[in-house]
Amino acid sequence: MEVPLLDLKAQYERIKDEIEAALLSVLETQRFILGENVSKFEEVLSRYVGVNYAVGVASGSDALLLSYMALGLGEGDEILTTPFTFFATAGSAARLGIKVVFADVREDTYNIDVDLIEERITHRTKAIVPVHIFGQPTDMDKIMDISAKTGIPVIEDAAQAIGASFKGKRVGSFGLVGCFSFFPSKNLGGYGDGGAVVTNDESLSELLRMLRVHGSSKRYYHEYVGINSRLDEIQAAVLLVKMRYIDMWNEERRSRARYYNLLFKEASLGEFVKTPLEMENCYHVYHQYVIRVKDRDRLQNFLAGMGISTQVYYPVPLHLQPCFRSWGYERGYCPIAEKLCEEVLALPIYPELSPKAQEYVVESIAKFYGKGV
Ligand SMILES: *Cc1c(COP(=O)(O)O)cnc(C)c1O
Repeated sequence: MEVPLLDLKAQYERIKDEIEAALLSVLETQRFILGENVSKFEEVLSRYVGVNYAVGVASGSDALLLSYMALGLGEGDEILTTPFTFFATAGSAARLGIKVVFADVREDTYNIDVDLIEERITHRTKAIVPVHIFGQPTDMDKIMDISAKTGIPVIEDAAQAIGASFKGKRVGSFGLVGCFSFFPSKNLGGYGDGGAVVTNDESLSELLRMLRVHGSSKRYYHEYVGINSRLDEIQAAVLLVKMRYIDMWNEERRSRARYYNLLFKEASLGEFVKTPLEMENCYHVYHQYVIRVKDRDRLQNFLAGMGISTQVYYPVPLHLQPCFRSWGYERGYCPIAEKLCEEVLALPIYPELSPKAQEYVVESIAKFYGKGV
């Protein structure tokens, strides 16, 4: 049996007619940049997240880059984030000359350990950047407390967590700004790159709108040095269709996560496999279902041989990435993240994943550990 990590074709089959009509209507208008679909999508997204403004940009990485730019960060500044995240959280800061300081994560939720943040804040810290990793919200009560106490703004990296909520409030709406990615494999994915920044701050939203078009609000008059980073009409048209389904798809991901939990429990693999913890008060959207296992690399190879695709998010914590060598971090700086990088394995999860496929995945894992039937 073949079980892919993600099956976008299965999703396309469910929405084909709507997608094709939406794409054709963009082609008919021949308007590709900042037209009706983008403004409509910005409106729908801001309402969905529960904020006043959304600004569509070219990718999640640019959403972060533009947020750092809008806050005026650069050389001599620091941001504080988790080392256990996709590269862009830190990479988009490094491009501006910002130094990234990391606080270690919790091994049960994979999110930043909010109790370790304060000790790594310095007088240069200009933003705290929680990442809702794999679709699980970070403890935003504690983060917002620290922000209120120190006056340091929060930029949420919600690239993996559209629709997730903490105590009933959607992620992206807690911080000064929230960043989303519509990379095709994300829970809400376009048919190419895309992203958005959301905020309740009107002047910040206007600044972001200018920065995405080379810092101008009136064509050919430039108040700032911005970049070219827009969500395009084709992506917005696709995303508008998919927005109608996002809650249903997130629910389907959650029910598949619950089924994995049950199957693992029944297989009595506790000694070898730790399933992901869902925090109380959190609505986790399972962008990934990530387990911690013994003998990870051999298990991954074994599963590949059984036709099951898995992935390691992430093999190297950001503080140990070669390109960040000049910051001088060494092994031991964030020991939990370092350990997770050797234990984590993301299993196939997507709304169309069948119970049979899930059973096959867990049976195969049981077999690897000699617990097979
Ligand atoms: C995907 C992702 C990004 C970047 O998004 P792109 O659209 O691929 O540029 C940033 N942060 C996290 C946590 C992500 O998962």
